[in-house]
Amino acid sequence: MAARPMGMRELTEIAVVPPQIELCPTRHGYLGIFAKYDFKKGTDIYSHASRPVAEDEVILLVTPRGTVPIDIKVHTVRRADGLRDYFGFDSFMNHSCAPNTISVVYPGDAENGRYATQAATDIKAGDEITCNYLLFDWDCDGHSFDCLCGAKECFGRIGGFGNLPFEKQLRLADGLDDPTFARFVASSGERLKPSALSLEGQLRLRKLGL
Ligand SMILES: [Zn+2]
Repeated sequence: MAARPMGMRELTEIAVVPPQIELCPTRHGYLGIFAKYDFKKGTDIYSHASRPVAEDEVILLVTPRGTVPIDIKVHTVRRADGLRDYFGFDSFMNHSCAPNTISVVYPGDAENGRYATQAATDIKAGDEITCNYLLFDWDCDGHSFDCLCGAKECFGRIGGFGNLPFEKQLRLADGLDDPTFARFVASSGERLKPSALSLEGQLRLRKLGL
C-alpha cells in the first residue's frame, strides 16, 4: 500500500474498535466509549496510537455507529509544532475531571504515538470510559467546554492545561504526558522550583533534559 502524503485533503478511514470496548451514546447524547467487561484498577484496557494530522485534513471515520465526519478542531489535540494529534476511535473518549482511565506510554512507544489506556479505578462492564483532557491538551484549541462530569473536584471550564492556575498545574504535573510536562516547565519559568515537584517529576526533568 502506498504511503499517503500528509496534507492530502480527504480520507475515509475504518475505525478499528478493540473488542474490549464499544462506542455508544452517552446520557448527554454524544458518542462515548464504554467498557464491555470488568477491568480491575491498574489493568490495561487497550493499546492505541495517535498520529499527527494537518488542520485542513478531512477525515470520514467509519464506525459501528455509522460514518462520522471528524471535526478536526473538536476531535484532535493541537501540538506544540502546530500539527494535531488524531486518535481514530479514541477521539470519542469523553473527558471527566474524575476519570476512570489514564494513558500510559511504555518505553519505546512515545515516537509512534502509542499509549495504553489503563483503568485508574475498578471499571464495570457498561461503564463509560473517560480520561482527563487536561493531562495532554495544552489549550483545548477549538474545543473548550463547560464540563458536565459532575465530579466534586470538577474543573468547570475545560480550556487546557495551560489555562489552569499554577497551583492546580503543580498538583496535576505527575499525570501529564511528556510533551505537556515540557510545556508546563517552559511556561512556568522561575515560578517552578524543582523541589516543588514529586520525586518522579524531578526525575522526569532530568530525563527530558529540562
Ligand atoms: Zn468536570
